Amino acid sequence: MARIETPRPIRGTQDIFGDEQRRFARVLEAFDHVRRLFAFQRVDLPVFEDTQVFARSIGETTDVVSKEMYTFEDRGGDSLTLRPEFTAGVCRAYLTQGWQHYTPLKLVTSGPLFRYERPQKGRYRQFHQIDAEVIGAAEPAADVELLAFADQLLHELGIADGVTLQLNTLGDAETRDAWRTALVAHFERHRGELSEDSLVRLDKNPMRILDSKDPRDRPIADAAPDIDAHLTSEAGAFFEKVTKGLDAAGVKWTRNGRLVRGLDYYRHTAFEFVTDRLGAQGTVLAGGRYDGLIESLGGPATPGVGWAAGIERLAMLLEARQSEVPDIALIPVGEEAERKALGFAAGLRSCGVAVEMAYRGNLKKRLARANSAGAHYAIIVGEDELKSEMATVKCLATGQQGRVAFHQLDENIFALTDARWKMRGINQLPALKDFMSVAEPSGSDAG
Ligand code: ATP
Ligand code: MG
Repeated sequence: MARIETPRPIRGTQDIFGDEQRRFARVLEAFDHVRRLFAFQRVDLPVFEDTQVFARSIGETTDVVSKEMYTFEDRGGDSLTLRPEFTAGVCRAYLTQGWQHYTPLKLVTSGPLFRYERPQKGRYRQFHQIDAEVIGAAEPAADVELLAFADQLLHELGIADGVTLQLNTLGDAETRDAWRTALVAHFERHRGELSEDSLVRLDKNPMRILDSKDPRDRPIADAAPDIDAHLTSEAGAFFEKVTKGLDAAGVKWTRNGRLVRGLDYYRHTAFEFVTDRLGAQGTVLAGGRYDGLIESLGGPATPGVGWAAGIERLAMLLEARQSEVPDIALIPVGEEAERKALGFAAGLRSCGVAVEMAYRGNLKKRLARANSAGAHYAIIVGEDELKSEMATVKCLATGQQGRVAFHQLDENIFALTDARWKMRGINQLPALKDFMSVAEPSGSDAG
């Protein structure tokens, strides 16, 4: 018979499993927690959009639009693009759904994004971001709130140490024009040393060179004039409000006068949270103000500010192994015991107790398995237990063992554990201990 070949996974995609998946989930949990603290609403948006949504807003000369988009024609002949970032889609929805009524609108979203990049550690073709946006707020206070949100998230995840907030202003239109002229003059003097990509950027979008990763461009980019000499007084005042606000909110930052962002739509505030713990992929969270974006999508002049962070990169920074332990391992021996245990499991789970019942093998093996899974208690139901209508309960941490009547497992414990666990956190099992002390010690058979 011909051997059937298993299709390969697509280059740059991931199958996220085990500890990696738990780290990933931890980032999302923390994000959801912190966004509630800052009163941001969640939205969920389509994974693909009309190609124009991204082409018009992100900028034709950016790497994302010129080289990285997954663009295809669908069966109806429309040009669609798998979203390479969130902001443009959020703004499209804002305009087409009439969300203008709700401004200022504080939104978060998360999910997969697609960029045709060279895959490496921390860089994938399907990757995931968490994203936060404030649409319709022109005040620097919105920038400050978003940065405080990001900063608190990093603290919540325990990764704030070693991650630095680098802050810049890209100024207003007047500032940008003046800075651009100074940059062009600088880069023109080094035309001969620039990479081919940067020569193209020099003609079309010279600021982009500052963001180049090509080692030939770095020294020239690093020596480029920074924006300060060109800041208009309004742009300077705006930036000062942002930095004063950050100081007041206790958010640490450093100035990077050459920081630009990979997309064209940024104005005023631009920032990156950077670490040296991830090699070349050191930017974990990035964003800024995009006051011109909504107009580029055909909407009225509407200010906006936002950030996005790579979930994979944040997850890579998490130190501790993320565990997911069952409260109780239920170990039935024999068919009748299995049926009985199904009832116990249903009751326990419905009052919020995590129960694992899938261990195979003999009793000793299953206990060892329950132990290594980190379960707090094992409840054993075998022939003796069925006869006596008393389950054996073993505290896996202490080895302490006792018996609990079936009817207590069925009724009282559920009520008791439910109330207590809600108060004390679900991984505490005081109720079961209490019951064990009132239950008859093992050995004195009640049957
Ligand atoms: P980089 O400079 O690393 O290419 P970028 O400027 O293209 O990043 P943004 O578009 O600002 O990135 O996206 C914000 C964040 O999303 C990045 O800081 C990073 O954490 C993450 N990110 C971007 N591209 C990828 C990717 N291909 N794989 C994994 N994470 C990514
Ligand atoms: Mg990139």
